[in-house]
Amino acid sequence: MKIPRRGLCLVIAAPSGGGKSSITRALLELEPDLCRSVSVTTREPRPGEREGVDYYFQDRASFERSVQFGAFLEWAQVFGNFYGTPRAPVEEALAAGCDVAFDIDWQGFRALRDALPGDVVGVFLLPPALHALEKRLHQRRGDDPAEIARRMRAARDEMSHWREFDYVIVNEDLDRAASDVRGILGAARLEARRQFGLRDFVHKLSE
Ligand code: 5GP
Repeated sequence: MKIPRRGLCLVIAAPSGGGKSSITRALLELEPDLCRSVSVTTREPRPGEREGVDYYFQDRASFERSVQFGAFLEWAQVFGNFYGTPRAPVEEALAAGCDVAFDIDWQGFRALRDALPGDVVGVFLLPPALHALEKRLHQRRGDDPAEIARRMRAARDEMSHWREFDYVIVNEDLDRAASDVRGILGAARLEARRQFGLRDFVHKLSE
């Protein structure tokens, strides 16, 4: 039985190479009521990235117009490019009782929490050790030492924000971390205040 409830925003944040994309992907496969927020970005598409699936790719002028129209729930500049979360799909999903997963950084989490108070659950993934992160960055980004050093500095900065999140998981094992995030999602869905259908349900129970 499904009690009508408001959806929630699940923000998984981690330093680059921290495993958030793999965990989000695993979760989306397992959870039918979870969809992914597709951000708008002004950066160039990477090989294999698809319009409307990975991002909506926009030029700077269109992005600025969207900011002016209030079309974003939050937006930020990251590594010199602009990124924004489209407002309408998220608000529609929440009203329909669907949950939305976000791949955004700590700035995005903070702004989203302000834009949608009470709707946002934040999970922060920490690496078990810094060398684990560095290894993953080498695998993903090649071996340019300057780029790796830049990403490691950014990772340290991202990690300094762990305290702002509701839950923190040390990601030693991807399957285990994914199942922990799933547990958090399950519990957050059952929060009494989110299940607005409980009032009627309990009323009928006592008739
Ligand atoms: P990438 O260009 O590697 O896909 O993403 C760069 C960074 O931008 C990542 O940390 C990603 O989480 C963040 N990001 C992606 N979309 C958004 C968004 O809509 N808002 C914010 N604040 N950050 C985003």
